[in-house]
Amino acid sequence: MGTLTSNQRESLAALFGDRVTFDRTERALYGHDIASLPSLARPLVGRTVPDAVVQPETEAELVELVRWAGANGVALTPRGRATSGYGGVLPVRKGIVVDFYRMQCVQAIDAEARTATAQAGVVWEKLDAALEPHGLTLRLYPASYPGSTAGGWLAQGGAGIGSFEAGWFRDNVVSARVVMGDGSVREFQGTELDLVSDAEGITGLISELTVRVMPREELAVVAIGCPTSHTLQRLVEFIVDERLPVWSLSFINPSMAALRNTVPLREHYGEPAEERVLLPEAYVATLACRARHRADVEGRLAAILKPCEAEVLSERIARHEWESRSKLMGFKRLGPSLVPAEAVVPLGALGDMLAETARKVAQPIVHEGIVVRAGRDGRPEAVILGFIPSDERRLSFNFIYALSLTMLRVAERHGGRAYATGLYFAARGASVLGAERVARLRAFKKRADPHGILNPRKVLGNGLLGGLLRMACAAEPLVRPFAGHVVTHIGERPTRPIRGVPADIAWYAYSCAQCGYCLDGCDQFYGRGWESHSPRGKWFWLRQYMERRAHWNRTMAETLLACTTCELCEARCPLALPIESSWMRLRRELVDGRSEASLPAFELMAAALRGANNVWAGRRADRAAWFPPDLLDTHGPGHPAANAYLAGCTASFIERDVCIASVRLLDAAGVDFTTLGEAEDCCGMPMLVAGKWERFAQIVRDNIRAVREAGATTVVTSCPSCDMMWRLIYPAWAKRLGIPYDIRARHYSELVAERIRDGSLIFPERDGKPVHLTWHDSCHLGRVAGVFDAPRQVIQAMPGVELHEMERRRADSRCCGNVITLVKDPAVAAEVAGLVLDEAQATGADKLLSLCPCCQLQFRIAAARNGASIEVVDLAHFAAEALGFDLPDPLPEVERQWACFEPLIALMQPAGMADLMAALWPEILATLSDSDQRMMQRIARLPGAAALLRRLLRRRLPTLAPRVAPVLCGRVAERVPMPESVAEQLPELMPRVLDALVGPLADDLARRLAPSLAAHLRAQ
Ligand SMILES: Cc1cc2nc3c(=O)[nH]c(=O)nc-3n(C[C@H](O)[C@H](O)[C@H](O)COP(=O)(O)OP(=O)(O)OC[C@H]3O[C@@H](n4cnc5c(N)ncnc54)[C@H](O)[C@@H]3O)c2cc1C
Ligand code: SF4
Ligand code: SF4
Repeated sequence: MGTLTSNQRESLAALFGDRVTFDRTERALYGHDIASLPSLARPLVGRTVPDAVVQPETEAELVELVRWAGANGVALTPRGRATSGYGGVLPVRKGIVVDFYRMQCVQAIDAEARTATAQAGVVWEKLDAALEPHGLTLRLYPASYPGSTAGGWLAQGGAGIGSFEAGWFRDNVVSARVVMGDGSVREFQGTELDLVSDAEGITGLISELTVRVMPREELAVVAIGCPTSHTLQRLVEFIVDERLPVWSLSFINPSMAALRNTVPLREHYGEPAEERVLLPEAYVATLACRARHRADVEGRLAAILKPCEAEVLSERIARHEWESRSKLMGFKRLGPSLVPAEAVVPLGALGDMLAETARKVAQPIVHEGIVVRAGRDGRPEAVILGFIPSDERRLSFNFIYALSLTMLRVAERHGGRAYATGLYFAARGASVLGAERVARLRAFKKRADPHGILNPRKVLGNGLLGGLLRMACAAEPLVRPFAGHVVTHIGERPTRPIRGVPADIAWYAYSCAQCGYCLDGCDQFYGRGWESHSPRGKWFWLRQYMERRAHWNRTMAETLLACTTCELCEARCPLALPIESSWMRLRRELVDGRSEASLPAFELMAAALRGANNVWAGRRADRAAWFPPDLLDTHGPGHPAANAYLAGCTASFIERDVCIASVRLLDAAGVDFTTLGEAEDCCGMPMLVAGKWERFAQIVRDNIRAVREAGATTVVTSCPSCDMMWRLIYPAWAKRLGIPYDIRARHYSELVAERIRDGSLIFPERDGKPVHLTWHDSCHLGRVAGVFDAPRQVIQAMPGVELHEMERRRADSRCCGNVITLVKDPAVAAEVAGLVLDEAQATGADKLLSLCPCCQLQFRIAAARNGASIEVVDLAHFAAEALGFDLPDPLPEVERQWACFEPLIALMQPAGMADLMAALWPEILATLSDSDQRMMQRIARLPGAAALLRRLLRRRLPTLAPRVAPVLCGRVAERVPMPESVAEQLPELMPRVLDALVGPLADDLARRLAPSLAAHLRAQ
């Protein structure tokens, strides 16, 4: 089994279209799981970059894929979300990684039978959310609930939250549909599930499963501190023996409690965003039971507390521990790596095993465990997860890694076993699964996988690696003393930049737990579905880059630039990593620091900004054309006021109803404010995200000066991005630039809501039927600035209006996709914004209200593309109309401008640019000397001319392209319908954009252009 041939690639592409990737950068992100292997062990596993990654959507596609792989002798490695750490998802024979990302459909929920059926790629959190409206919930789930799949858990096997009552996951599965190695589909039930569970996909690809679920009930949580591992054991034995009605029981050891007390807290723009809850340095057991059983559980527990010297901890600790149940790797920020060890032990050995491990492992080892009341053979068991914080970049990591075997050996001595097999413990299959089951699996695999293509080298033995692991186990007592002497420093301590990656970001890249919780919240990711677009993928790529296994390329530069800055990832990251701000800083490193081109649309905006200080290439003289003449005396430029209303570029030039309505509302509310008129400039947000920080710094200076000169102390905005700039970004930049900053930022909705509350603004009664509205929280005003209530108060103050909230709202609200998606990948923008439109329509509302001009632009364009029926209306527009004002319909201008910018941006992409230039060879060649032209003609007649011309073009394009800018302008004008202002400025914009883009894109352009140049020269 080797690299795919070009025919094989073509046939895969024919089967899966854009759901298969052969891109080297992308594939490299699908060759690992959460574990970091020590450097000395990596050669044993070998290179694990697959030849392709495919994302099937249906069982039928899985069948086709398996048949194709069988016929072509290509290995298939299934992948849920790669949150396991046993190497099961590693494509050790390369071939194809089968990513279940697009198989997430919840197919049926049977409330009576209490079962749920879903495709295997469904993430637990999503399945649980689907159960909620039926009054149901999961019987059990892994702690990786926000980021792992149902199929992955069945294939991997395991126990988790709820296992105290529900047991091992396999026992909660009713049936599983599986695509076998010969392409047949079979449903497994009862004891036959043993052939699929814990089998890591070696016997088939699970396409769908039906699991048992339970009624959703309110839970109560109790946390208990015990002084020793033996008292912890005694407490748990009491709970088991007395059959206390507990649903879930987990625990941590004192070292884990101590580390959790020091882990950095989530921050928001330099301020703590969460409170620290201090844990006692003890064994802390967390019990969850149904609320109706609380009194019973607490009452009966009283009898055991004293003999165990245990104490019930505060409600706050209990709640905190429960809420942190999915964050068990939160302390990884202190490592930045972790050496993991995992084992299952009989409950009766828990105390001894933990005490002996602590004695033998002379490193700070932290433990987290869960208890299964009826484990193997119906006896109680504890699953113990151990971690030793360490740094994988150091040689000592290799020695400390050996200590993971210490814990396993101790567990085995006490009647325990490894948790799973996967790749690393395949040689321990008999102990993990039982000898009889291994024999059954082996025999079945022979029949079920006749071509030997399903997840090779996993579970049933893996030759050399297994043998070496056995040897390592035997040698563990010899290595242990060395490892014990390694000095482990715990705590965040970034030291120096690595290959231009700032020191702290380098640290975060290694601390990222690769848990994937960030994936489903990230609109950049779910709009495209490929790892490189997720925070997890980017952190992993940075590691590779810092280890010189990857280099900056356009794919990764663009993926960094395409982050929409929505900040949802940060709310989901259990390590509280500053993700968005890290990407922001790397954008600067790339664009200002390494002269990489920004996104073409940003280059266009940057060029436009240099002219008339707005990003839409409007005329400066038109900037304030929207301003209502009757308000000039009271709020026009020159009127002295403490508040300055800034409209922002998009409202000033495109959606003018937003700023007209905002000033009408502010005026009606009695707010004294002024405006800057033509002197208002762009807030600079597009330059910040474009990585053009030098330009941004100048904008910050100019804007602060302009507001000061107007005599204002408060900036009032309608655009959330402007608000974010003035509220959070400018203060930090002013400090950095040494400019005094005493300007406050308010959103108009906050001022209007205040006047509604104090009675100075009252909306008139409305006749007719109530209007049904839903509300979209913008990322920058909501999640970032924390303004959620004011807009709702404005809506609720209007008579005859009914507000229907969307499923995802406030801090959890979906991002619209931001203009960044629109200007980068319009088709993706339509999908991402389409999800919000779908949610809005699901509320039954007639109108979707929003206050962000950019969100509205996005929604309007997406609604037109997707045929969504809900009307998109600006909040200020709606409220000003309720006050009796007439406002322009923004849609015609949105359509006119987008009809210009969409094709213009497409022409600035490498494909578009190459297409334009390929039609201009006579003009381009005319700019060359006669001798250069003759030389090119000679080259064109040589064998391999395209490759030679490609090299030549790569060097010459950066100087050639700007020379033909005037001709290019003409050709662009022929193809793109432009507003007058854009057409006027194009001759100035075009050379600047070409100057910025052609150099960094020269390689790509040369590749695309060389064949057409060769053909042109030959034809001459
Ligand atoms: C923070 C955190 C907490 C965790 N908590 C728990 C816990 O409480 N209990 C626990 O048991 N584990 C836990 N894990 C480990 C891991 O999350 C689980 O094993 C999880 O079930 C793996 O799911 P996945 O979708 O990521 O599968 P993957 O890791 O992608 O795959 C696991 C194995 O299953 C195979 N596979 C995946 N999908 C399929 C399919 N459709 N058909 C056939 N084979 C397939 C893969 O090839 C691989 O061998 C935790 C991990 C993390 C990071
Ligand atoms: S800020 Fe938004 S788009 Fe950017 S990485 Fe985070 S979730 Fe994804
Ligand atoms: S960024 Fe955070 S949420 Fe995403 S994979 Fe890393 S640790 Fe997990």
